[in-house]
Amino acid sequence: MQSRNPVHRRLTRHWPILVFTLGNGGGTIMCYFLDTTLTSSFKGVWSGSPRAQTLCQIYTSIFFLLMSILWWLYWSLYQSNPGFVTLGSGDVPSQGLQRQCPYCRCAPPLRSRHDHQTGRCVVKFDHFCSMLQTPIGDLNHARFWLFVVLQAFFAMWGTCVCWEATTCLQPLYNRTAQVACWKVHPGRTVLLLLFVLFTSSAAQGLSGLAMGHSYLACTAQTTYELLKGAKVSYLASHYASYDGPQMLPHRVRGVRLLLRQHLKFRHPPPAPFNQGVIENLNSFFFQPKPIAYHEQYRYAGTVSQL
Ligand SMILES: [Zn+2]
Repeated sequence: MQSRNPVHRRLTRHWPILVFTLGNGGGTIMCYFLDTTLTSSFKGVWSGSPRAQTLCQIYTSIFFLLMSILWWLYWSLYQSNPGFVTLGSGDVPSQGLQRQCPYCRCAPPLRSRHDHQTGRCVVKFDHFCSMLQTPIGDLNHARFWLFVVLQAFFAMWGTCVCWEATTCLQPLYNRTAQVACWKVHPGRTVLLLLFVLFTSSAAQGLSGLAMGHSYLACTAQTTYELLKGAKVSYLASHYASYDGPQMLPHRVRGVRLLLRQHLKFRHPPPAPFNQGVIENLNSFFFQPKPIAYHEQYRYAGTVSQL
């Protein structure tokens, strides 16, 4: 639910921008001033042999290109329409089964859900992303996947760059060099190690998120459907004959359960929109949105159960 206090609402809306800017912009500036490969690459664009200059130009260009894409993805997602269903222009028209949303009174298509943060129904609702301050739905899920993958890449890249710069620890067996290094640059070494700790934790979380959403894209499911399982009206009939867990717990145990169902029992949770990996990925990335999901839906019971 949105806060009624306007100051609180504004802070809630804008703090993720600050975190994103500090994490990526601040992190890049820090990597530059802490004398890492990024520093030598930036400086090498104008100095050194022609071959070294070319390599530095390629490295720097790739870095700025990917960073620009990351910032564009963030802003585009921050302001995006995930697939809101209302009667207003530019929104997703109602289609398929005409049931009315008890909150916003619109007639949402199959697979949509009311998002309480924005107070509107969203087509193929996945989850509300606090970092982007937007729901993830049919219209922005593929972009969100790309953003998470790129952000995970930058977190890994930051970890590698800073770890590589902590020469005091490499090689670990050269104690004389380590002691000398700590004595000469103690502040820099501590900062680099803190940065390694931060970026490696972020990389771990983000790569898990990227893998999770890749799984969802391959199996044509959403986070909401996977977590709520039998509680989702159009999945209830499918879960009636399913001997696995009826709902997936939110925490790590849920992921373990899911992997066990897949790898050990080869019995994944019901996914009535699954059309095979290739078709699912084609639909996820390339098909025009919003998709009429009632045409893809495979009924497992009676229509009245919807
Ligand atoms: Zn609604």
